[in-house]
Amino acid sequence: MKLIDFYVDLRAEILEVMSGIKNADPSLFFDSTKSNSQIKTELNNIFIKYSDSAREFGVEVFYRYYRCSNKRHRDTVSLSCDGVRFLGDDVYKSYEQFFVLWDETMLLKCPCSRNNQVEINSRQVLLGFKAGEYSAEKDAVNRSLAYVAYAKDCAADKKPRSGIRENLLIAILVLNDAIAPEKMSDTINRIRSERGV
Ligand SMILES: [Zn+2]
Repeated sequence: MKLIDFYVDLRAEILEVMSGIKNADPSLFFDSTKSNSQIKTELNNIFIKYSDSAREFGVEVFYRYYRCSNKRHRDTVSLSCDGVRFLGDDVYKSYEQFFVLWDETMLLKCPCSRNNQVEINSRQVLLGFKAGEYSAEKDAVNRSLAYVAYAKDCAADKKPRSGIRENLLIAILVLNDAIAPEKMSDTINRIRSERGV
């Protein structure tokens, strides 16, 4: 996939979700709008699909586990987002340009040892670039995915939809700049100079 196609396709899918986000009508007894959990599922699907495509550009999303009850747990225990690959210290250190996407506390089995039991613990979801893979033109990959993740985090039950829309709008602006790099101020200056202002 070309980088520009990644940007164009992700932008289209975000706009599609945004068009379905409506405020609940306070005068109605029931809420006929799309629920936050539906929006969250749609955003989650987009996030997973494009995180997967973004690997081609050096981006990796992974879980970093907080200290568990195992005394041998190290600080940088992490797992790739597909839950398959265990990433050791050396792998973790080979990433840069990190974004913290969200924290979650749940029943989980820390991957630092196969013998661990399931327990309540927390992990952080991070997005980073493999060292040396980052470039300015790829910057919108991590930034747009981060804002999709923030929007997803805002789509919890009973949370206002403005937070979802706001984050998706920022993702769109990031993608707009990546697709059409002419700055808005340059465009305005060009329009004004054409009409002789
Ligand atoms: Zn552990």
